[in-house]
Amino acid sequence: MSEQYDVIVCGAGVAGIAAALESARAGLSVALVEKTIIPGGLATSGLVYVYLPLCDGRGTQVTFGIAEELLLLSTRYGPGKPPAGWETPQTPEKAGRYQVTFSPASFILALDEALIDAGVHLWLDTLACVPVMRDQRVCGVEVETKAGRETLLAPVTIDATGDADIACRAGVPCATSANIMSIWALQATLASADVAASKRDGTALLSMFAHGGDGDDPEIESEDRIWNIGAAKEITAFVVEGRRQMREHYKAVQAQAGRTNAYPITVPSMAQYRMTRRIVGQETISPGHSWTRRSDSVGVVADWRADGSVWEIPYGALIPKTISGLLVAGRCISAAGDAWHVTRVIPAAALTGQITGAAAAIAVRKGIEPANVDASAIQKALRKKGMPCKIEDIYDAPSIPKPGAS
Ligand SMILES: Cc1cc2nc3c(=O)[nH]c(=O)nc-3n(C[C@H](O)[C@H](O)[C@H](O)COP(=O)(O)OP(=O)(O)OC[C@H]3O[C@@H](n4cnc5c(N)ncnc54)[C@H](O)[C@@H]3O)c2cc1C
Repeated sequence: MSEQYDVIVCGAGVAGIAAALESARAGLSVALVEKTIIPGGLATSGLVYVYLPLCDGRGTQVTFGIAEELLLLSTRYGPGKPPAGWETPQTPEKAGRYQVTFSPASFILALDEALIDAGVHLWLDTLACVPVMRDQRVCGVEVETKAGRETLLAPVTIDATGDADIACRAGVPCATSANIMSIWALQATLASADVAASKRDGTALLSMFAHGGDGDDPEIESEDRIWNIGAAKEITAFVVEGRRQMREHYKAVQAQAGRTNAYPITVPSMAQYRMTRRIVGQETISPGHSWTRRSDSVGVVADWRADGSVWEIPYGALIPKTISGLLVAGRCISAAGDAWHVTRVIPAAALTGQITGAAAAIAVRKGIEPANVDASAIQKALRKKGMPCKIEDIYDAPSIPKPGAS
């Protein structure tokens, strides 16, 4: 059994969703392959429900397009809104940045709707197993469903698995990272219910259980906090240890407050690894590249940890070395060290997803390799949609046409 598409996107996290939306809206037939039945990846199944900022922390928005559309969708069927006044020049009493906290379930409902409206062919409960290779070219993927093995073929495949699964199996050189133990979940507490009732507003019911490292320290301090991704054994140990720590927390809390005053509502159904495996691309975004300007940049993101630190995304960071027919989006693009922390988060994943979708559309229309798509053609397509591609588009010449302008 084989089916032919224009584009196959592996993984329906925010990166894969953005890639699928962009290429389907460009008129391509798109298969979005997701091993669970839930769109959103870590942002939904992983209960990471803070959509980090689209702005530079000094009042200027730097990331636009589907990254902004998804931020707004995350609150369509539930609470959350960006802080008022985020766009005013920031003072010591600053209003915050352009980000939101959302309900993961509400986000899932809105994501389904967007994908169906765009005409994306959803393959849920479908594992992308191995790439179909012809010499050094990815021509599609073999997938495993309840019906058995099937083959999906396309001129462009986008690896948005978060862990570069398809790229790695195609023979793309990859790098790995250790992880710190942390577990985020949703809980019910009487205290948050009291706040919600007194304000007559259910936003406070989104009470987060967050335990362990916060993941933004570039150095991992002690050996016992290092967790590697690998075979099922390692992932199982990581997940079970996180839930053990959660159990210890509630044992202590409930000994004081009782079982009904604070308890878990749901736990992540995806292992909460931040950085696992990434490709070594034609270019690598590296520590110190903040404010670095390049000719082939196709998008801009802000460092969520530091005000006033912005980073260009070069197209080459989404193109694997040595293997053709394949692009990579999301937390497994080619970004090293501290730069990986900048590009692994939700807004950057959505942006790189959209860039690969735009590049795929050009490649399919012209009948060329995605690696041979000129960055200037992607810049043209994205700027038409009101998206800055370079630092100069935002700070030097803020004259990007509004969406719809020719
Ligand atoms: C504890 C923790 C806290 C974080 N905090 C924040 C935060 O506050 N804000 C923020 O913006 N970011 C945060 N992040 C990072 C952020 O959540 C992710 O990096 C981002 O959501 C990654 O999106 P993605 O689409 O690249 O990958 P993922 O979300 O990992 O999506 C990959 C998708 O691919 C699917 N998949 C994988 N392999 C296959 C396969 N072989 N076949 C089919 N499907 C497959 C998965 O099921 C998943 O749906 C945090 C991460 C962690 C772990």
